[in-house]
Amino acid sequence: MAERKGSIKVSTENIFPVIRQWLYTDKDIFLREIVSNAADAITKLERLRTMGQWDEEEKPAYRIDVSYDKGQNLITVEDNGLGMTEEELDNYINNIAYSGAMAFIEKYQDQSDAGSGVIGHFGLGFYSSFMVSSKVRIDTLSWQEGAKACFWESDTGTDYTMGDGDRDTWGTKISMYLSDEAKEDFDAFKLRQILTKYAQFMPYPIYFHDIEEEEKKAQEALENGESQDEESKEEAVSTEPKPINNPNPLWTKSPSEISDEEYISFYHELFQDYRDPLFWIHLNMDYPFRLQGILYFPKAEEHMDTLAGRLKVYYNQVFVADDVKELIPDYLFLLRGCLDSPDLPLNVSRSNLQYDSNLEKLSNHIVRKVADQLKDLAKNEREKYESYWKDLSLFVRYGSLCDHKFYDRAKEAFLFESEDGTYRSFAELKESGKEKFYYTTDPKAQIAYIKRLTAKDEWVFLMEHELDLPFMQNLDMHDQLHFVRVDAEVAGESGNEDRKEQLERIFRKATGNDKLEIEVKGLGPDAEAAILTEDEETRAMRDLYERMGQDMGQDLDSLIPPKHTLVLNTDQSLITKLCLLDETSGKEETSLTLAEEIYDLARLSHGSLLGDDLLHFLKRSQTLLEQVDL
Ligand code: ADP
Ligand code: MG
Repeated sequence: MAERKGSIKVSTENIFPVIRQWLYTDKDIFLREIVSNAADAITKLERLRTMGQWDEEEKPAYRIDVSYDKGQNLITVEDNGLGMTEEELDNYINNIAYSGAMAFIEKYQDQSDAGSGVIGHFGLGFYSSFMVSSKVRIDTLSWQEGAKACFWESDTGTDYTMGDGDRDTWGTKISMYLSDEAKEDFDAFKLRQILTKYAQFMPYPIYFHDIEEEEKKAQEALENGESQDEESKEEAVSTEPKPINNPNPLWTKSPSEISDEEYISFYHELFQDYRDPLFWIHLNMDYPFRLQGILYFPKAEEHMDTLAGRLKVYYNQVFVADDVKELIPDYLFLLRGCLDSPDLPLNVSRSNLQYDSNLEKLSNHIVRKVADQLKDLAKNEREKYESYWKDLSLFVRYGSLCDHKFYDRAKEAFLFESEDGTYRSFAELKESGKEKFYYTTDPKAQIAYIKRLTAKDEWVFLMEHELDLPFMQNLDMHDQLHFVRVDAEVAGESGNEDRKEQLERIFRKATGNDKLEIEVKGLGPDAEAAILTEDEETRAMRDLYERMGQDMGQDLDSLIPPKHTLVLNTDQSLITKLCLLDETSGKEETSLTLAEEIYDLARLSHGSLLGDDLLHFLKRSQTLLEQVDL
C-alpha cells in the first residue's frame, strides 16, 4: 500500500482522561495489556484453527516474546497470533470504539463459544502503551492467505503513520520506545517482576529476553569459543530459555486428575511459600457463571501472617488483583488461593471490579462451596477433619460471626473440643438432650470445677479463644445451645437449709462482706467444703468489657461488680465442725478463722485469690499448720 497519514477517529478528549487515570494509578499495567493482547491474538487464531477456518493441521508452537533493549530504551512484545490486515489496523487501532474483540465475538458468536477466552473487550488496552512510550510501532502480518505485512506508528497516540511492513511470519510485534520519564521506571528486573505478577499463569508460554544480557553472554561465548570443552558445551544446551510463566495452572485441570502433591506444589508456586497448606477446595463450575479456583486452608499460625496477597483473582488466566474485597468476604481472607472467572465484571482499567449483581452471586457461591466442603469433610472423614480442627476453628468461628449465612451453612461442620481432647459435633450437642453445656476458659486453673462436672457425666468444652464468647452467644441465640462456664454454678442436691442462716452470719462476719451470697448444697462428704461460683451473664459482660480494653472512666469492679456466690457443702464434716465451733462458747474466734480459711480455699480454687488476700491466706495457713500437735 502507499504510505498514508491520518488522525484517529475518536477525539482525544474521550480517551486520554482514561489513559491518564491509569497513568496516575499504575503504570505497570501497560505490559499486562499488551501481553494480554498478544495472548488474545493467539486464542483467536487457535479458535479459527479449531473451527476449520484456518487449514493448519498441527497446533503451532504458540508463544509470546517480550524483550527489553536497554541500549535503545525499547520494549517489544511479539506474538504468533492472528495478526492484522491493513483494514483491521484501521478498524481496531485507529478506530478505538470498534474493538477488535467485539467484532470478533459478533462475527463468530453463532459458531461456538467464541466469547470465552478472549480477555480484551474494552478497546483501550493498546493505548495504555502511550503511558510509557514516546513512540509505539506495530508490525503485523495477518494469518490470512495473501495478506500483506504492514506497520503502524505513532508518537502521540493520536496521529499515526501506516505503511507496508516487512514481517514475513504471521503475528504481531509491538515496539514501545520508552519516554524519558519511563526510562527511569523500567529495567529488566522490573519488567520481569511485572510479568511474573500479571502473566504468571497466562495460557501461552512467555519468554523474556534481556537483550543487553543476551549480547553479553553471546560475546562471552564467542571469546571462550576456542577454549570451550565438551562439558561446558553441554551446559550451554541445557540452559535453553524457559518460559517465565506456567501456561497450565492447576486450577484449569480437572480435580479428579490432580494428586495431593500437585495441589501442594502449586501452592508453593502461587505464593512462593515453602510451607504446606492443610487442605484445599477446588472450585470448578460452568453454570450460572464460570468460575475456577483453588482455596487453600493454611495452618492456624499462618492465619494472620501477611493478610495481603492471599487471594489472587484472575480473568482468563490474566492476573487482575489481589484480595478483591467485593468478591470475597472478609473472613475468607484467612484462606489463601486463586480464583479465575471470565464473568467478573471488570471496570475499564481491569484492575478493579465493578459492582454488579453477578458479583454477589459469585461471592455467595464461593461461601457456599467452602461451607459445603467443610460439612462434607466433617461427615465423611471425621478423623481427618478432627486433626484439622485446631487450625480450622478460628476461620470457622470468625466466619460464622461475620456472616450468618455462613454460620447456617457451616454449623454442621462445627466441632467442640472437650477438656480431655476428644471432639463432639454440632449434631451430637443438638441431639444430646442436655439443657446446657459447660466450658472452661482455663482447664488447669479450673480443674476442680471441671472434675466435679465430668464426674457427673457433664460435657466440658474448651473455649479459650476470645472469639469463643460471641461464638457461644450465637449458638445460644440461633440454635438454643446454652453454654455456662464451669464455675457458673454448682449442680447438686440442695443442702441443709436449716444451717443457711447460721453459715451466712459466720461467713459474712469472717470475710467482712455483709453482702456475701451463700448457698447450701449437699454435695456428699468427699466433695469440697466450699466452692465459689460466678454468675455467667455478669462474668461474660465483664470479659467483654475487659477485652474491648477501653477506658471506661471507672474501674470494672464498680461498673459491673462481679456476682460471686459461696456454695457450702453441708455434707462436709468441716462445715459441721464450723457450726459446732460457732455454737461453743469461747470458740467464736476459732470458727471465724476456720471460715476465713474455707472461704480462701474456695477462692484459691476459683483463681480469684490474689494480692494481699493471697498473702494473708499463706500466713494464716502457716499459723494453722504450726498448731498441729507433735
Ligand atoms: P481490546 O483488547 O480490549 O479489544 P485493545 O486496545 O487492547 O482493546 O486492542 C484493540 C484491538 O487491537 C484488539 O481488539 C485487537 O483486535 C487489536 N490488537 C491489539 N493487539 C493485537 C495483537 N497483538 N494481535 C492482533 N490484534 C491485536
Ligand atoms: Mg486488549
